[in-house]
Amino acid sequence: MSDVIQLLPDHVANQIAAGEVVQRPASVIKELLENAIDAKAEQIQVVIKDAGKTLVQVVDDGVGMSLTDARMSFERHATSKIKAAEDLFSLKTKGFRGEALASIAAIAHVELKTRPEDEEVGTSIKIEGSEIISQDACVAPKGTSISVKNLFYNIPARRNFLKSDNVETRHIIDEFQRVALAHPQISFSLFHNGSELFQLPKTNHRQRITNIFGGKTNEKLVPVEEDTDILKISGFVGKPEFAKKSRGEQFFFVNDRYIKSPYLNHAVNAAFEGLLKEKTYPSYFLFLQVDPKSIDINIHPTKTEIKFDDEHALYAMLRSAIKHSLGQFNVAPVLDFERDSNLDTPYEYKNKEVETPKIEVDQNFNPFQSETNSYRSGASATSSYKKESAAWESLYSGMDNEPEDQGDLKQIEFESEEVTGSLFQNKEEESEKSTFQLHKKYIVSTLKSGILVIDQHRAHTRILYEELLKNITVTAAVSQQLLFPLKLQFNKHEVEMIKEIKESLEQTGFVFSELEEDSVEITGIPTLISESEVGMLLERLLSDMEHNIPDNGFSQTDLLAKSLANGMAVKSGTLLNNTEQQHIVNRLFACKEPSLSPSNRSVFVTLTVDELDKKFM
Ligand code: ADP
Ligand code: MG
Repeated sequence: MSDVIQLLPDHVANQIAAGEVVQRPASVIKELLENAIDAKAEQIQVVIKDAGKTLVQVVDDGVGMSLTDARMSFERHATSKIKAAEDLFSLKTKGFRGEALASIAAIAHVELKTRPEDEEVGTSIKIEGSEIISQDACVAPKGTSISVKNLFYNIPARRNFLKSDNVETRHIIDEFQRVALAHPQISFSLFHNGSELFQLPKTNHRQRITNIFGGKTNEKLVPVEEDTDILKISGFVGKPEFAKKSRGEQFFFVNDRYIKSPYLNHAVNAAFEGLLKEKTYPSYFLFLQVDPKSIDINIHPTKTEIKFDDEHALYAMLRSAIKHSLGQFNVAPVLDFERDSNLDTPYEYKNKEVETPKIEVDQNFNPFQSETNSYRSGASATSSYKKESAAWESLYSGMDNEPEDQGDLKQIEFESEEVTGSLFQNKEEESEKSTFQLHKKYIVSTLKSGILVIDQHRAHTRILYEELLKNITVTAAVSQQLLFPLKLQFNKHEVEMIKEIKESLEQTGFVFSELEEDSVEITGIPTLISESEVGMLLERLLSDMEHNIPDNGFSQTDLLAKSLANGMAVKSGTLLNNTEQQHIVNRLFACKEPSLSPSNRSVFVTLTVDELDKKFM
């Protein structure tokens, strides 16, 4: 047979390579920023339009390129950064593969303007889909400017694969922050559709972190320093009490390169052992310096994963350095339980003035235990309700009026025929016997055919989830006006996420008066929640969103309802009185899908008399 193997034409090879390097506009930003840093820029400006889909431009004041270099830079495997394979083992630059510009030029409209300091005229090159369109001499400031327009214009499938502008902007902000954090000695700015997202002046690490994550960050940081033969650590960890519900602020940099390392992350967590509340994550910004010979960066095209020669030693050092810092700054728990930790003075602060004691908040406060709790009473509470059921009402059915049809019990048939909306108004005595609580976790109820054991948290989550969904998609919920606007601190990234879901949140009853760079101001909240819960619920929601980026409007709404419902629902371990138990049972079986929690887990199990009989055989 005739030969069939051919070499792929360059532009095809470049397009294939591009798939590895460029997943989205954020990848372009990362590559261009890294090139600017390698070119020793002191000032770098990023301009994007439409989340980078229309334009990504990076302008630097670095060394620039000669005419020949400018042409060469778009060739595949063209790099000024290494000359021989050995150089791979002593990398001091970000780039070395020589494929970023070639890849980007294969899938976008690219315009390069560049001038080295010692030349009078610059070079301008236009290239589209790997093809040089024009090349001219031009007037240009020292340095390089690269615009990348219409990314993936020739690969519609990839273009369609891009997420919403908000999601893509979030990825861009992530990449931008990672690079900016690693290089505080360079000033950076980021503009999106004409508005300034970041303006970061040249500074030190601590100040850069604060500039990015907001003014309050500074006081939450504990410095970490360690210097050994094989590893130099500097940076900061967040004080344990400020640990977040999301992993958003966790950064490792190795030789000024952002990397992901589950293994080192584990070392940090080990250092925090015993100091964190469940499901919270400490912030950290850790800068590690190691001998370039002892790492291999070559194992991933985006260069965010690296291999260390002596991982175990690094682990141990990192953990002990952080432990030491936490101890020294007196944030680790004191073993002497009698001692009030507020009175402990770290030795550095011996001569400082005494701080005002903090107000303690009872974390275990249980609204169900007290009749005179301060929750708002619901508009729909009828006068014949007992006081406690009025409180119950306002907590759990304030969003809309009572469901019209509580008697719709679907498959399950209850022993008492009167399972209706009026159940605990008139027949309280009688109905009191039909449920009880087991282990503060399950509600047990009798059926004609046996017994029903309901997981109280899951059941309540299901109820709230359906109500929230209805509010978001069908009717807007009622909102309670706050007496004083509530100002919550978030980082920019989180504020971007809130913008993305603002409309849905408003449908549930939130009213946002201001969305600033690093805070939001809220003047109204859903009637279902109390003011003190708002921060926790939103943080949790953002964390859920981060770990589960939804693809379309529907699933985003769904995620929002799931997350809020989960956060709002009564926890297991909460004592419920009879009225509350029955309220859950009734409302559960008025749900569309009572048997499954929103995350598809069983809400209840039944045990029939037949099954019981068998057990006694
Ligand atoms: P790499 O960074 O791996 O070398 P790239 O494709 O990103 O590969 O860049 C190719 C070459 O183009 C670089 O090695 C560098 O010499 C040159 N170059 C790219 N961007 C810039 C810039 N902003 N300033 C100066 N030179 C640049
Ligand atoms: Mg590069």
